[in-house]
Amino acid sequence: MKKSTLAIGLTLITLLVACERKEHVSIIPIPLSVELQTKVFTLNEHTQLWTNASNGEETFLKEYAIKHQLGVWSDERPVSNAIILEIVDTLPDIETPEGYMLLTDKSGVKISALSEAGLFYGIQTLLQMTSEEKTIAHGKIIDEPRFEYRGMMLDVSRHFFGVDFIKKQIEAMAYYKLNHLHLHLTDAAGWRIEIKRYPELTQQAAWRTHALWKDWWNNDRLYINKEEENAYGGFYTQEQIREIVDYAQKHYITVIPEIEMPSHSEEVLAVYPELSCSHIPYKESDFCAGNDKVFEFIENVLLEIMELFPSHYIHIGGDEASKQSWKECLLCKARMQEEGIDSVDELQSYFIHRIESFLNAHERNLLGWDEILDGGLAPNATVMSWRGTEGGLKAMRMGHRAIMTPGEFCYFDAYQDAPHTQPEAFGGYLPLQKVYSYDPIPDTLDSKTAKLLYGVQGNLFAEYIPTEEHMEYMAYPRILALAEVAWSAPKNKSFEDFHARALKAVEDLRTKGYHPFDLCHEVGNRPGADKPVRHLGVGKQVVYADGSAYYKGYSAGGDSALVDGVRGGWTYGDKHWQGFLGRKGVDVIIDLGKTLPITSISADFMQICGPGVFMPACVIISISHDGETFTELKREDIKVVKDDAVTFKTFGWEGASKARYVRYQAQRSDFGGFLFVDEIVIK
Ligand SMILES: [Zn+2]
Repeated sequence: MKKSTLAIGLTLITLLVACERKEHVSIIPIPLSVELQTKVFTLNEHTQLWTNASNGEETFLKEYAIKHQLGVWSDERPVSNAIILEIVDTLPDIETPEGYMLLTDKSGVKISALSEAGLFYGIQTLLQMTSEEKTIAHGKIIDEPRFEYRGMMLDVSRHFFGVDFIKKQIEAMAYYKLNHLHLHLTDAAGWRIEIKRYPELTQQAAWRTHALWKDWWNNDRLYINKEEENAYGGFYTQEQIREIVDYAQKHYITVIPEIEMPSHSEEVLAVYPELSCSHIPYKESDFCAGNDKVFEFIENVLLEIMELFPSHYIHIGGDEASKQSWKECLLCKARMQEEGIDSVDELQSYFIHRIESFLNAHERNLLGWDEILDGGLAPNATVMSWRGTEGGLKAMRMGHRAIMTPGEFCYFDAYQDAPHTQPEAFGGYLPLQKVYSYDPIPDTLDSKTAKLLYGVQGNLFAEYIPTEEHMEYMAYPRILALAEVAWSAPKNKSFEDFHARALKAVEDLRTKGYHPFDLCHEVGNRPGADKPVRHLGVGKQVVYADGSAYYKGYSAGGDSALVDGVRGGWTYGDKHWQGFLGRKGVDVIIDLGKTLPITSISADFMQICGPGVFMPACVIISISHDGETFTELKREDIKVVKDDAVTFKTFGWEGASKARYVRYQAQRSDFGGFLFVDEIVIK
């Protein structure tokens, strides 16, 4: 018998052309250990299916296995041509309830687990390893997740997505062993869940004047009644929510509702202005923190929410509160005095504490974005870390659980490929490889604290995502990379191997009617961003003129950034672009160390108007022998025009000259904002 072992992480596909499909066992996320042989078991119409889960009674597990054609049901435990799904008391090498062992031999397949969830994940692996010819390789798979929490967040406020779409995503999430669906149900762009006590929330705050979020955002941001012309919106009835929660439960997925507070609440305050500090509609985004009516409202909403969602966690948002109105509001000031609170940060903390006590009294726990740390974290709260990982780490050091979802790796509203090849996105550049590279546990974290890391989540905010197809396009296959980050042991991870599996998964997803990104034709990062550029300036000294200091948050590594041989990539946030916010713009002198013949000098700029990044209005390139007297080689005026695109331009000089010093100046346009420049290339 020829026996081959598929050693995980050792890849057989290194030399394959990107899109060539290789038939081999392709499981996402990669299991803990896989030993497979060349012999196979073949499913046929006589294969019998049996489980002891729920004592063999009707369970969704059984229904699910039959639906996916794993066999015909048998009341007796079959001995051959069998698929056995067995709950056991102990399993060697498996510690978590979601783990499983899958054994295949000539008699069939046996999946053993400590819980039904474990059996369910065993089934997902079995489905993924079953070939088109219905064959399953003999062998043994032992598997369990790295993290308990493996999540995806869908923003249904900025654009609304219906029940069938959510169910479809639940199916895919389960297939890749994700187990938490976080629904961003409320935000300025629309309230999306029926609350019986406050019908105005869905009569009015669920509908707006423009279908596209961007049009609405740029045109007065008004809410209207559903009956009015061109009203865009929607919401889930409580019945539909029950349907979603039930469907998710059957796929071993917990749905976590997010109800935003104290900010991102424009839609509520437009309908109930008395809950804001000013009592004026369309004025504030924060609830008044001094008004007890606000807490009464929120608690009434949460009572209905808790009735609908059995989730242990209720997400209360907590992010990006301006707190400005709290400084002037009489009720807020009175509250601060009464509670001995000195700052609006502490007032936010009071707000969150109070809601936490309410949730705890109902045996639920509070989950919030990392701003809930500001002014003091509520005692039992769990932090979802989005502004980097520092908030999550801080919470963990304080003994709290954290879920990591840092923007840099987990925000799927960023471009996943070269912006000029993609539909408009929020900005940034987050290709599959970068998602995959994320390791939520840094080396510096001790093992005791690391245990508080509950898991990871991919977030899909939908400002620029108006359709279901587009939503799927942004989610897949990036969420698959995150699923592997969340489930698989780091020692088993290899991007090359994952990439081959992801290509196959993209095909499978398409076959099933999803709309994934075309990974096969990925363009990749900007030329020069991944491979160094050689030129005369690399490693030379750069002097910044007075008034032309780079912005600290975008230093790109400091004084050497502009001549480090690496070009900036598709986003100014990639730590290669140097940002200038000062009025003088860019004014730098590069000392080549000695006089050299020069034939070209150039630098790259980028523009993305949303966040205020513009092309320069004028570029001046000069040279000098002594560093004091400069001769101008080129002066170029540039007409800067606002647009929706992400653009990159190179401004330079070509000719023949000699110099020791090169000066590059770039002036800001009348739009102000940032100049982002990288790699001054001297040849
Ligand atoms: Zn107030």
